[in-house]
Amino acid sequence: MPALKETTPPMPFSDYHVHTPLCRHASGWPLEFGGRAVELGLEELGFADHNPMPAPFDDWRMDLEELPLYLDSVAQAREAFPQLPIRLGLECDFLPGKEAWIEELASRAPWDFLIGSVHYLPEGWEVDHPKYLGRHAGNAEEIWTSYWDTYVRCIRSGLFDFVAHPDLPKKFGYRPAGDLKRFYAPAVEALAETGVAFEINTAGLRKECRELYPTLEFLQLAHAANVPILINSDAHAPGELGAGFAEAAALAAEAGYTETLRFAGRKSRRVALR
Ligand code: ZN
Ligand code: ZN
Ligand code: FE
Ligand code: FE
Repeated sequence: MPALKETTPPMPFSDYHVHTPLCRHASGWPLEFGGRAVELGLEELGFADHNPMPAPFDDWRMDLEELPLYLDSVAQAREAFPQLPIRLGLECDFLPGKEAWIEELASRAPWDFLIGSVHYLPEGWEVDHPKYLGRHAGNAEEIWTSYWDTYVRCIRSGLFDFVAHPDLPKKFGYRPAGDLKRFYAPAVEALAETGVAFEINTAGLRKECRELYPTLEFLQLAHAANVPILINSDAHAPGELGAGFAEAAALAAEAGYTETLRFAGRKSRRVALR
């Protein structure tokens, strides 16, 4: 049926985890990502830059004073590409004890979704930052225990619509020995109990671990518990938009997934995963 083929977009996905130069480690403004999304035939595009903090905090996020610039840059892209639904989000660092700040941020813009991420362990360092690479060797068990405990708290905080890159501590290729389900199961249980979704994040394919976040095992547990997924690139440049989506969709299908979520105004709806 050639007629059907012509109307089928080349990439029937949304990509909701996209950064901007405001975070100081990404290139490409929303206008450029919008152009690339249209080129790829993405059905929806969503920005999720690293959230600002109330006071200077680290060197990989926008300043609070730059939040209006972020909102404007997304509005510009919406204007330039009226045919493409462009969603407004943030990738928020979950920091135990700092929940009130996320609540405050949630009220400051008409977000379509808020993503919860754990990059900081309670011990005070970023588990995915290359400057701490030396801490990983020989410490995977301890790091994974701390990380997953924090990830469960992030899910249960009730602050987020979905959580990012579940098994991020494997980024550099270090993993504890033995069955890793002991880390995955409490997170999947928290997701199922709270109704929070999670993403398959394709950035892992571009890191030392050369794997999607999360693994098939995690996806199988999550699918059995009826936890919804999204597929996102975590693009820090327009060329990374939609990267690895075929692999991610194949892994999702292998775990039994037939649906994904779309967000607007912090409400989700289920759509077929093709
Ligand atoms: Zn980033
Ligand atoms: Zn992240
Ligand atoms: Fe990200
Ligand atoms: Fe990130």
